[in-house]
Amino acid sequence: MKILRTVLGDVPAENSGKILSHEHLLYGYPGAELDHRTVLDYSAAVDFVAGQVQRGMDGYGYGTIVDMTPPEVGRHPQFMVDVAKQTGMNVVAITGFFPERMGVPYYWRRQTVEELTEFFVKDLTEGMVFAWQQTPYRAGAIKIATGQESVTPKPSPLGPHGRHIHEVEDRVIRAAARAATQVGCAINTHIDPMDFEVTNPGREQLEILAEEGMDLAKVIIGHAFVPPQVEMMREILAMGANVQLDHVGIPWRVGSAEELDEAMANALVTLIDEGYLDNVVISFDRWFFNPRAGVTESDPQLLNEKVDLGYMFTSFVPRLKSKGVTDEQLDALMIHNPRRIFAIDV
Ligand SMILES: [Zn+2]
Repeated sequence: MKILRTVLGDVPAENSGKILSHEHLLYGYPGAELDHRTVLDYSAAVDFVAGQVQRGMDGYGYGTIVDMTPPEVGRHPQFMVDVAKQTGMNVVAITGFFPERMGVPYYWRRQTVEELTEFFVKDLTEGMVFAWQQTPYRAGAIKIATGQESVTPKPSPLGPHGRHIHEVEDRVIRAAARAATQVGCAINTHIDPMDFEVTNPGREQLEILAEEGMDLAKVIIGHAFVPPQVEMMREILAMGANVQLDHVGIPWRVGSAEELDEAMANALVTLIDEGYLDNVVISFDRWFFNPRAGVTESDPQLLNEKVDLGYMFTSFVPRLKSKGVTDEQLDALMIHNPRRIFAIDV
């Protein structure tokens, strides 16, 4: 039986509705949970996020959100559970880590591939740990991440094995492949488009995953979008993996939302023409709640909160349709593809 492993338990994959494959319900960079300015008004925060989620369900038919927040970036199992209970949304949590230079707490940098594998498998099969406490809530997929050299981003230098991937990231990726293979779950990744200047980071991630026996059909290379990277996406797709067009309406690492959306739409049409319809997924990478919002209004990263879930249907979908994308193809991108990739056989 094919299921999605949500924080409230396994549900039949066919009940997915439309799937957002990369979002964040609650988000804060490592250390944010220690800041006086980020102290949560817990139930108000749940209500705030649940309200947005509910509008996405009622207005647009979203049924599943993959919350790609790694454990060190504010992953909060109970928060996801409370939003899921309040709305009925399927919320899939992930295990895994952020890029080495932005995350992977020191404790975890010291662990072997075997220990990291065991951590991921337990998150996926027994339940995640939060603030020293075991919870019964299981993750349903794994995140791996590479890139970002400092607060001012620059391309990653050459690391071990001739790749622009750091040593700790290399170990995390190997462990992710082993855990995903054991459990049968998907891996969704974070790459930094900055690295396009020196390599195809998606290909490098896939090479390591393949070395560890991962079925690349269960892998999504995220953020594989910044224009004009069609060539890099082709390379990823030719290896049997999937690509995620995300940051719809959120101009990360690119001039404007208009420029990004137009480039993504054109890339998508090209990939569909080349026969890759079944290997593309679409998401926002929104922060539904980042407790720093309003504290530093000049922080450009707050852009991630400013795009409404409806934007997909009021702006991006019409753009795709104007280029000839059909309703049936949209269903593949938003329902059937992510459902197939995130489904676990139990
Ligand atoms: Zn993200």
